[in-house]
Amino acid sequence: MTVTRFAPSPTGYIHVGNLRTALMNWMIARKAGGTFILRIDDTDPERSKQEYVDAIKEDLEWLGLTWDKIETQSSRLDRYAEAADKLREMSRFYEAFETPTELDLKRKKQLNMGKPPVYDRAALKLTDDQTEALRAERGNGVWRFKLDHERINWTDGILGDLSIDASSVSDPVLIRGDGQVLYTIASVVDDTEMGVTHVVRGSDHVTNTATQIQIIEALGGTPPKFAHHSLLTGPQGESLSKRLGTLAIRDLRENGVEPMALLSLMARLGSSQPVELRASLDELVEGFEISQFGAAPTKFDVEDLGPLTHRHLGTLPFSEMADEIAALGVPAEIAPKFWDVMRENINTRAELGPWWDVLRDGATPLVENDDKEFVTQALNLLPAPPYSEDAWSTWTAEVKEATGRKGKGLFMPLRKALTGRQRGPEMADFVSLMQSKPKL
Ligand code: GLU
Repeated sequence: MTVTRFAPSPTGYIHVGNLRTALMNWMIARKAGGTFILRIDDTDPERSKQEYVDAIKEDLEWLGLTWDKIETQSSRLDRYAEAADKLREMSRFYEAFETPTELDLKRKKQLNMGKPPVYDRAALKLTDDQTEALRAERGNGVWRFKLDHERINWTDGILGDLSIDASSVSDPVLIRGDGQVLYTIASVVDDTEMGVTHVVRGSDHVTNTATQIQIIEALGGTPPKFAHHSLLTGPQGESLSKRLGTLAIRDLRENGVEPMALLSLMARLGSSQPVELRASLDELVEGFEISQFGAAPTKFDVEDLGPLTHRHLGTLPFSEMADEIAALGVPAEIAPKFWDVMRENINTRAELGPWWDVLRDGATPLVENDDKEFVTQALNLLPAPPYSEDAWSTWTAEVKEATGRKGKGLFMPLRKALTGRQRGPEMADFVSLMQSKPKL
């Protein structure tokens, strides 16, 4: 049974980088007919906010990335305490009292001597009396997991065979001085107890994974299969870390990006498969293969979402838009035609409303100075609505006859007068939908 999870910390909105992680885990579960867990990593009570939990759910639902189960770390603190006790009993857990400044100093000294900045385990040498004295003076210390100094090996689903020397890594802090349980232990307890079989996350977690493998094994569990995807960069390869905040899923939604456009891009970006617009998540799941993703940083260009959204809208059948179009007030008799005429001419759904306003009320004509007289003359020749399918050709023939204009000089000013814009749908179709004459 395949079990995956997406484990965001509710300390902000999820962005395209998180989406990549969520999507890969979701697709692995769906492809295998397994279980996808949404796990809220909220062990930090100060930074975790309910509003972000709600927002994460809303964003995932909008994308169609539904979960089979939801788990919340803050309601499992007793489980983590139990695991910590177990590690203490095994002497794999020790209390350390260095302040951040002291640790920083140690690191600087090590770096100066050309050594890797690994925690020196000074706390392991403390006698009971010294520990008592430090605790009395500084309060509770942090709890570190004592790594076994051996190589940690695993076959990564994306990066291939990895081997990390545990002695090059500091013993990870699992519990803070104030008692706050940290992600590193909470995550392994959850992954083990929830039967998680596959963990996909960003390559910034590779070192974490090494330490987590030892913690899982110390606790008697079996490590899941790990895969670390590359991190996203901007289109020029520049770091996105500072800009990810502006690439929140909800902002993209606000800007009119369609879920299938975003999903089609993110499900293939950085893999050996080309990005192709797909109509459904099922189609994306079908071709998904985690091993086809590469280790190199993945370039992400938010501009790619515009054309994909445009193309996606062009493929949508009327049935999917009927309610939305009815809500704009488009009469049922012309609604299917309205969608047919508009769908290839919009970049976002939000553009439908303004187009309907123009059709219903008549455009405010866009007229160049040189065309003023011509447009006035032409509009005088335009009969009152309703307009038939031939209204445009009949009218333009009459205007041509009356003014002597032809070709672009005839059609462009008329388009701009009737639509109020430079570009848009076929004019014959447009005119047949017009409910009012333009207001000159
Ligand atoms: N809450 C962690 C994060 O957002 C989860 C990492 C993981 O997938 O284990 O980085």
